[in-house]
Amino acid sequence: VPVEPFDLAIFGATGDLALGKLLPSLFHRWCDRQIPESSRIIAVARDELDDDAFRQLVRQRYLDGHERNLDEDSNWQAFAERLTYVPLNAADRDGSWDKLQDVFGTSENLRLFYLALPPSLYAPVSENLAHHALNVPGSRIVLEKPIGSNFHTAREINERVGAVFGEDAIFRIDHYLGKESVQNLLILRFGNFLFEPMWNATGIDHVQITVAESVGAGKRASYYDTAGALRDMVQNHLLQLMCLVAMEPPSDLGADTVRTEKLKILQALRPIGRAEITDKVIRAQYSSGAIKGVAVPGYQEELGSKSGTETFVSVKAEIDNWRWAGVPFYLRTGKRMSRRYSEIVIQFKPVPHDVVQADSGKIQPNRLIIRLQPDEAVRLMLMTKDPGPGGVRLRYVPLNLSYADTFEKDYPDAYERLLMAVIRGNLGLFMRRDEVEAAWRWTDRILQSWEDAQSPLQTYPAGTDGPTASALMLARDNREWFDEGSA
Ligand code: NAP
Repeated sequence: VPVEPFDLAIFGATGDLALGKLLPSLFHRWCDRQIPESSRIIAVARDELDDDAFRQLVRQRYLDGHERNLDEDSNWQAFAERLTYVPLNAADRDGSWDKLQDVFGTSENLRLFYLALPPSLYAPVSENLAHHALNVPGSRIVLEKPIGSNFHTAREINERVGAVFGEDAIFRIDHYLGKESVQNLLILRFGNFLFEPMWNATGIDHVQITVAESVGAGKRASYYDTAGALRDMVQNHLLQLMCLVAMEPPSDLGADTVRTEKLKILQALRPIGRAEITDKVIRAQYSSGAIKGVAVPGYQEELGSKSGTETFVSVKAEIDNWRWAGVPFYLRTGKRMSRRYSEIVIQFKPVPHDVVQADSGKIQPNRLIIRLQPDEAVRLMLMTKDPGPGGVRLRYVPLNLSYADTFEKDYPDAYERLLMAVIRGNLGLFMRRDEVEAAWRWTDRILQSWEDAQSPLQTYPAGTDGPTASALMLARDNREWFDEGSA
């Protein structure tokens, strides 16, 4: 689908996100001829660089992450020419905005502003854009997560940015929504008849959503320490995944139809108060340990100071509506876990009666596993008979849809898809204001309950799957975290 030429200003263009994700994604789309040739990328940060120095920076960072020879790559030459650099302190209203105004000049290209900046700058930079009359009609703005650090700061950002840009011009990124397998979740649910009749409290026992990282807080440690796992991961990524699993079928896949259904789930989330906080939410921090045999330090050693911030959280979330009554959604995320993977496990109800009486093996419930990373896959776990003579031996095996094996083509990664969606004006992959605020309301309540109950911080050795308290939380419900390796 042809797109119109655009001028994309990236604020924070020398940062990790811009150099590591946004510019490589734009380059890949350029190589695929998805970007009109008269488009421009206008890089903004405070460093005093010129165009060439910035292009070198982009090139070097690209080569650090990708195996590709750019020396004689005409695509690269042409792409680099589309990059312009403007040094500017965007928080400073009286800064050198005239340079940025000059670069935009009288260009009639679609105007896009991507704020790859700390969230505290979203509101002032939007206001500065308006003050310098850069937000011409039709302009769009892209905001990275996190939108604020609680309901009040999120609302303030939304109010102030909303005073400059209409809601339909604001693209709030949750990059999980750009993942191929997350989009496929909607098709899986609503493009097949098989699942939906059972997609409720009658057919489903519970749902597990895991986003496990093996890295520590690393370079982001000083930011991370002010946030913690609940704010950094659950408030956005895990709740968004939960919404897509739990929402009612929308009447179409229009942006607002889907976002309204997601909002209803966030609004139906049962608040977790002080009385049940220790039973339903586990917070923990990693101590020293080993990842794949390599010793790694604990969180506080890495940070270089004492800290009570959680690097792991697991939550028993409940949705108070007809479809999901009595069906818990167990969410967990952590850093320095044994391996990096993100997965949704839909566990169906057990069979009502065991007619098989197998000689070996035990009937396990069906599970639909949607794997988001590192490899994208969908597996439906089924009971089968192990072939061969003799008695009945049961085997639990996957019907396996591996993306890499099934689709012999490369598909764009999340940021490529999201950037193209901004350019095309497709809001469906972005969070609406009311969704962000509803998610913060529920998250704030947990933070408040932690404080009220002085919830203990558990520890777990780096390289494990979190504290025993997290396993016990499920054990109390006669359930356990699913690990395909041990199934
Ligand atoms: P970062 O590495 O610290 O980069 C921040 C960028 O903003 C730098 O280019 C910095 O350059 C620029 N900047 C800061 N203050 C500025 C100002 N007043 N005027 C103009 N430029 C300014 O941060 P990041 O990791 O790229 O993250 C950016 C945003 O994306 C954050 O909101 C973060 O939460 C979000 N995010 C990042 C990732 C990721 O993968 N890194 C993932 C998800 C979300 P100068 O200091 O030279 O001005």
